[in-house]
Amino acid sequence: MGYTAGGGVFIISLNKAAILKQYFGYTQFRPGQAELIDAILAGRDVLAVMPTGAGKSLCYQIPALLLEGLTLVISPLISLMKDQVNALQDAGVPAAFLNSSLSSGEYADTIFRAAGGEYKILYIAPERLSKGLPPQLAESSRSPGIALVVIDEAHCVSQWGHDFRPSYMEITGFIRRLKTRPITAAFTATATGKVREDIQRLLSLSDPYVLTTGFDRSNLYFEVQKPRDRFGALLECLASRRDKSGIIYCSTRKTVEEVCHTLDTRGFGVTRYHAGLNDRERRENQDDFIYDRKPLMVATNAFGMGIDKSNVSFVIHYNMPKNIESYYQEAGRAGRDGEKADCILLYSPQDVQINRYLIRNSQDEEEVKDQALVEHNLELLKEMTFYATGSGCLRSRLLAYFGETAPAYCGNCSNCNTVFEETDVTVPARKIISCVYRLKERGRSFGKMMVINILRGGRDEKIRASHCDTLSTYGIMADTEPRRIRQVMDHLIEESYLSLEGDEYPVLVLTPRYREAFDEEKTIMMMLPKEQAPEKRKDAGRLDRAEPVEKTKSPETGAPEKAGKKDLPEDPIDEALFLKLKELRGRLSQEARVPAYIVFSDASLRDMCRKRPQSPEQFLNVAGVGAVKLEKYGDDFLGIIRGFN
Ligand code: ADP
Ligand code: MG
Repeated sequence: MGYTAGGGVFIISLNKAAILKQYFGYTQFRPGQAELIDAILAGRDVLAVMPTGAGKSLCYQIPALLLEGLTLVISPLISLMKDQVNALQDAGVPAAFLNSSLSSGEYADTIFRAAGGEYKILYIAPERLSKGLPPQLAESSRSPGIALVVIDEAHCVSQWGHDFRPSYMEITGFIRRLKTRPITAAFTATATGKVREDIQRLLSLSDPYVLTTGFDRSNLYFEVQKPRDRFGALLECLASRRDKSGIIYCSTRKTVEEVCHTLDTRGFGVTRYHAGLNDRERRENQDDFIYDRKPLMVATNAFGMGIDKSNVSFVIHYNMPKNIESYYQEAGRAGRDGEKADCILLYSPQDVQINRYLIRNSQDEEEVKDQALVEHNLELLKEMTFYATGSGCLRSRLLAYFGETAPAYCGNCSNCNTVFEETDVTVPARKIISCVYRLKERGRSFGKMMVINILRGGRDEKIRASHCDTLSTYGIMADTEPRRIRQVMDHLIEESYLSLEGDEYPVLVLTPRYREAFDEEKTIMMMLPKEQAPEKRKDAGRLDRAEPVEKTKSPETGAPEKAGKKDLPEDPIDEALFLKLKELRGRLSQEARVPAYIVFSDASLRDMCRKRPQSPEQFLNVAGVGAVKLEKYGDDFLGIIRGFN
């Protein structure tokens, strides 16, 4: 095997498992990886749907090393190509990228080298494709041509996805113009049925090997909070996660600015990212985060696709996103290193309204709004809202959305760890519905807040002016907490007794089903959180909490399943050694001008602490250590570990 920079040839005679170890330092394939690699090596197109962090890159990087010829990787993430290429180079893989960040000299040089067969992997921005492949590359007699075209983040080709990129429409035309059709491999973390069909059709995949791996990420803990004071809740989340790296997603640029500024003035190491910043600032801020100079990133959804920062240990959503796909993808940026990580959603009912507004107005540049698309997106928003307001297992709701059946109890989400009681809410439900009914008799309809206010006998101006205080249902729930009324309301909406209509100011309306609520033998049951003593509630949300005393009864699954994984005690490691290794990593990464995680992930450092390798052979047993990394970094790390005993 050899690689020479002067236009030499890169020859490999290893199998895929050997490459996994040699270049990437891993000993075992993750689910789906081996199958996908085999399919590509057998010359088949593939479509792989695997959750964020599952390890999609290796599925094409390993074939790229084994196939004769060049692998082109189309990725929308210009700002990250450099990091990806750095990481590959650091592992000993000859790789480069073509995008608008290169000067014309660099660009020409890269093409020249690629045509000479110097690289195995070339990342390319989709915008470049409309111009066709540079002729030197397409027609080079020295290179064996393009063996494989990879479309990363393939959902970007579909309007039904959450991240449509028009430039992705150029891809098929581009492939068609190549002299020989390469193997085409599409990868995405999010694809519902519609998106999957689009990918297959719009990318002209030919009889692809389609693989969807399980979407569960068992190391992620899911939590929903409905705080009265969002910022206070955020501070509390951060207080218990000092020194950890995390992302805080907000729905608007303005909120990003506010949250970032306030955290900054309170002394947090924080930076920000949104589309309103210029390229340079975005790049700098992103680097501050990736290079661990600032542990916290406050951002809109413009940030993060393809980010492979492995030590993000929490993702907090300060606002609720538009749909579950976006949520899962964003939240999934936590815990890529496989360590425990937290995904927390701070929900407020306003989020629903803002999102409705955004969905309605997202296409205003086009003259004719695509009504079907708007409806579709509103439907997705509804699912997201049910995630935020429902009482069932959060993980199972997420997985169900992606078409998987999961146990109704995961033991590792805030709902599973809240004590819920099956509660008869027939009476409050009837009161709420009656109130909507009485309003309807008067030809009026109002949003949730106002209806709650009427039911509680509020005395504000709006109530007096609209004469709602003369309704027979005025004040009939004066003793019930607004939060509880809202919970029952949400349940009635989810169960289609009521629905919300209108966008900017959605109002409660009756559905045909509402009558059932008044059937004499009808009881309406729902799971409601049991009110807990405050100190008990405080530690809700951490993994090491006590088992709940009562649990959701689920006819399908019977007794709650105790998730084995989470019961494993965390391997204790020597923190002092870990810090020393981190220090060394920091130094080496600065010298090499790459982010720390490109040298080694936290998980690799932890593994070193556990295994305490004494020799180069033993060092190779550490997760994430391959031949190239051993050679580059072995002595330094071994020196520290040996000196530590
Ligand atoms: P995705 O693109 O699916 O979101 P990546 O390809 O970026 O995920 O991989 C996520 C992380 O998992 C990376 O840090 C990668 O090194 C690691 N990884 C991938 N495959 C394996 C494996 N077989 N064993 C251990 N770690 C792996
Ligand atoms: Mg990826």
